[in-house]
This record gives sequence, structure tokens and C-alpha cells, in this order.
Amino acid sequence: MVDIKEVAENIYLIDNQLYSIPEWGSVYLINEEKKALVDTGPTTSVNVVLDGIKRVGVSPEEIDYLIITHIHLDHAGGAGVLIQDMPRAQVAVHHKGARHLANPVKLVDGVRVAQGEEIMAKLGEVVPIEMKRLKPVSEGDVIKLGEKQVLRFIEAPGHASHELCIYESRNNGLFSGDAIGILVAENKVLVPVTPPPSFDLELYLATLKKLMTLEASALYFAHFGISNQVDENLKLAMDKLQAWANIVSKTLKEDGFDGAAAKLKAQLYLELEPVRKMASLYKYLTDGIITLNVAGYMQYYQDKYEAN
Ligand SMILES: [Zn+2]
Repeated sequence: MVDIKEVAENIYLIDNQLYSIPEWGSVYLINEEKKALVDTGPTTSVNVVLDGIKRVGVSPEEIDYLIITHIHLDHAGGAGVLIQDMPRAQVAVHHKGARHLANPVKLVDGVRVAQGEEIMAKLGEVVPIEMKRLKPVSEGDVIKLGEKQVLRFIEAPGHASHELCIYESRNNGLFSGDAIGILVAENKVLVPVTPPPSFDLELYLATLKKLMTLEASALYFAHFGISNQVDENLKLAMDKLQAWANIVSKTLKEDGFDGAAAKLKAQLYLELEPVRKMASLYKYLTDGIITLNVAGYMQYYQDKYEAN
């Protein structure tokens, strides 16, 4: 049965059972006068998400907005199928990402190149969204869902150039997508996610600094769940990004790119050790996230050296 939980007033977490892994993918239903879903998960999660919405007591026809934190397919891939059951829903997405949801060919090709063909089977088909149902948003845009609930969009590049965080006024909370990273294993392990080609260290750090100034009381992670340790988590993400950068830049000088990649990989294994007992998640993180993170850092440094 689908797992739902009210994590803050009128905000429900639905575990979308991403890639059939428990406690890995969260989408959030904001249940106000108007109703919004933050992220959709991929097409393979659509049935679980629809069940979750109904279990909260909301019918899919009542959903006014699908809000996409960023267009990576584990967050947005299911939107095109999901809105078929949501006749009045608009899809709010970063202005840089909107055209890729209208025509996902490039987006899908990019995922194939970065993560291989197998991942597409796990994500499912990506159905294009009609332009008239897309609502491109920018820094500072707001959506009012009710008297006490106004959502404000914050551009949050670093993990991806098309990343948004969404501030919600009722609980002083922040939907962080992947902007900070992932927080898993009952909030014990926080790891920034740095995939190529979009990872940008300076932008990522600047985003974390900007999020700190909001003084939010809660973070709603896309992977996975809520945390009230806001400052601690933002600070930890900054420290880790910096520490990984130090490892890479130091090792690069002595052992080149292969040496630096191996050192960073070993460090990431160490940091994920507490997840080991969650077998399916550990496997995905060590196969998937470690590879992406190392590749992202290597590309970032390669670009940097080529530019100099
Ligand atoms: Zn992402």
C-alpha cells in the first residue's frame, strides 16, 4: 500500500516508490483551497502517486498545479501522463525547462547518454506536455493556493541550471528538490548530488548561501522526506561540496583525473556507509549517485582547466 504522511500542516508526503525503492522518492501534495503536487516522479510511479492523492482524500481532478522542482526525469518524467487525469492542472516549471517538457526528445537523449539505456526502462515513457498547460516560472514568481498558503519560486542552480526551490508560507518550509542534495536513511546521511553536465560548484554554493538567508523552519527533500535541521543541513552540504573539491583539486595535481576520480569515489563510499543496511537504496546510490557525482566533478574540473 502506498505510504502517505502529513509532514506539516496541509502538506502530505507520498512515497512514490521510485525505482521500487522505499523511502527514496517523495512527492508532496499541498492540500489548500487550491491544490498542488510538488514533483510527480517518473511515469513508472504515476499509479502510486494517484493512489496517494486519493488516500489523502483529494481527487486528481481537483489538482490545480503540478510544480516541478527540476526537469530531471525522476522528478518530472511522469507529468505528461499524470495530467491526463488532471484536466485543470497547470505544470509550473523553471523557464529554462519548459520547452524540454513540451518536447522531451533532448531530455531523454541526455539521460540515455549520462545513465545508459537501462535507466529508461526504470523511468518509463516520457509523454510531451502541451505548451498551453505549461506555466514557465522565474525567481520571485508566486502562486497563491489559499489565504495562508502562498508559494514563492526561488531559482536554485548548481545541481541543475533549471532547479527551483519553492518556499511555502503556511509552515515557513522549503521544497528543495535536489538543490541541497539527498537526505536519506532516516536523515542520517546527507549527500549533495553533482551530475554532469549541469553541476556547477560555485553556483551550487551560492544557492546554498541564498537558501540560508530564508531562515526556513523545514526542508522537504525530494529524496527523501522532511527535516527541521535547516541550517545544519545547508551548512553540511556546503562543507561536503568544498571538501570534495579539495580532494579533487589536490589529487589532480599529483595523480591526474583518474587518481582524483578514484579518491573522490572512495570518499563517497565512506560517506554512504550508514545506508548499507538499506540494501536496495545502497545499491542504487553506490551504482548510480556515486558514478554521477564523480563524473560531474571531473567534468567541472575539466571545463575549468580548458577555460584557463
Ligand atoms: Zn536531479
